Amino acid sequence: MNTPVPVSFEFFPPKTDVGYEKLLKAHDELKVANPEFFSVTYGAGGSTQERTINTVIELNQRGVPAAPHLSCIGSKADAIRDLLIKYQNAGIKRIVALRGDLPSGMMGTGGDFNYASDLVAFVKAEFGKAFHIEVAAYPEMHPQAPNLDKDIDNFVAKAKAGADSAITQYFYNVNAYKHFVDEVRRRDCDIDIVPGIMPITNYSNLARFSDACGADIPRWMRQALQTCGDDVSRIQRIGLNFVVDLCQELIAAGAPKLHFYSMNQSAPTLAILERLKA
Ligand code: FAD
Repeated sequence: MNTPVPVSFEFFPPKTDVGYEKLLKAHDELKVANPEFFSVTYGAGGSTQERTINTVIELNQRGVPAAPHLSCIGSKADAIRDLLIKYQNAGIKRIVALRGDLPSGMMGTGGDFNYASDLVAFVKAEFGKAFHIEVAAYPEMHPQAPNLDKDIDNFVAKAKAGADSAITQYFYNVNAYKHFVDEVRRRDCDIDIVPGIMPITNYSNLARFSDACGADIPRWMRQALQTCGDDVSRIQRIGLNFVVDLCQELIAAGAPKLHFYSMNQSAPTLAILERLKA
């Protein structure tokens, strides 16, 4: 399948064998879009870390590069170094470097890193150019930042610590992306800022995720999706139209690539790509 710009896809590590089989199926189906890479998320502070490692190493052997997300909050430098050596030995060449969030109830960091920029600087210092380093960007501002300007300053400092490119939190306001990119460029930083795209398949899940991560669903979109009630096929049809328009506007605005939060499913993302190629 031809895509208008290069694409990549994100997975989360499944908890069960059945979930793992589904992920492998989605992976193989998404390969038709010739993705640049698949990434696999990582839980800060424990629980899913081993599953991320195993999943990413296995996916990397299936023909398309795989990239682990790696969060540093609460971690010791030695443990991060050991993990990166393991990835390097497994042929991994790209990582998504994050601060992460400690699970509620865990106080302080107890680790060697305060911010993602510390992790980026550490990876550069210890591994040079062995890894392409992706970092996170927030066109609608990271929820804990004091204001957008300061958050963009912090983003640029993280990029200048050695990041190669960035993937954004998902958003549905193209102007937020344009403003963010303009402000980053104004600060003499030219790394690719790749929009993260969340397909819309279920309104209540989307509203819950969005509240948690600070992504705004514009009022008119909320209203249109809310009026669908439980009519899943209508939500999916309207959601598909919204997201296809969003991707087209982002490409017109100069987005260099698109990164899809696949939620371990192929069909919603492939439906978007099918419409974009026309
Ligand atoms: P940072 O870049 O460190 O920023 C965090 C906050 O600190 C921001 O408010 C920033 O403005 C501020 N800040 C940065 N530097 C400084 C400084 N020097 N002084 C003062 N303030 C500063 N979470 C996971 O747990 N696992 C994942 O796999 C995962 N994948 C993600 C993928 C993407 C593409 C995105 C966008 C997010 C992902 N997250 C993941 C969520 C992420 O971990 C959280 O949003 C976390 O709260 C911030 O991580 P960060 O790397 O953006 O942090």
